Amino acid sequence: MELKGKSAIVTGGTRGIGRAVALMLAKEGCNVAINYRKSDKEAKELVREIKAMKRDALAVKADVSNFEDARKMWDKALKKFGRIDILVNNAGINWDGVIWKMSEEQFDTVISTNLKGCFNYNKLAANHFKNQRYGKIVNISSINGIRGKFAQTNYSASKGGEIALTKALAKELGKFNINVNCLCPGMVMTEMAANIPQEFLDKAVDETVLGRIAHPDDVANVVVFLCSDKSRHITGEVIKVDGGQYI
Ligand code: NDP
Repeated sequence: MELKGKSAIVTGGTRGIGRAVALMLAKEGCNVAINYRKSDKEAKELVREIKAMKRDALAVKADVSNFEDARKMWDKALKKFGRIDILVNNAGINWDGVIWKMSEEQFDTVISTNLKGCFNYNKLAANHFKNQRYGKIVNISSINGIRGKFAQTNYSASKGGEIALTKALAKELGKFNINVNCLCPGMVMTEMAANIPQEFLDKAVDETVLGRIAHPDDVANVVVFLCSDKSRHITGEVIKVDGGQYI
């Protein structure tokens, strides 16, 4: 087990990539706390699954875009586990549309969930990890944060912001023995992707060189590596997990 005895917070853990990450971290020996916004039933089920692996688990209903919610969630996890070693900042949404049809609300909602949410949890992690001189932060961005995507000015801007935040924070936290990295998945088969019309999914498959859409575990495996000490000399990195979709 790579992460025996460690404790992690995974934002947006009720389904998709966050759920896969939470389960994979637990499999590797971690206690795991997740947050979510709506899915009470799925949150309970995940806690049950993690506890069945003989790890401690916690699910907190807390909106990532709200700093006070984030602070309370962090404190609950800290109280339960006694220590936090890992943050996986995963929660994210999209609300697509070309910019001339995009409302201010559409822009603000995506930025405040994806980018402000990333700031909220990275700030809490930085304070805590600095004091213990140890910590791993993995931010889940997207290849669309590097290349920009049609009808996703809001999403692309939020994901590009997460990449820049990761690099700046890696510089601030390096001297405290804290690694801060960013993953950029291509298309991953989750509920977020399930809403995409088939012709766009086919196009995404064509764009990859491996000829497939990722399973959430493909991302979770790389998260585990970045949370382990096998990657202790990697920080400020932006790693694509996209089957070659970007190249
Ligand atoms: P899903 O839509 O499947 O899951 C999103 C998760 O985030 C859910 O658990 C959801 O909880 C939670 N969440 C959403 N908004 C909030 C909020 N305001 N506060 C707290 N939790 C929230 O997403 P994916 O698994 O597909 O995506 C996960 C991350 O990966 C996102 O950041 C996404 O941008 C990124 N990504 C995804 C790709 C893909 O193709 N799927 C590709 C590239 C990047 P609830 O159930 O309560 O809504």
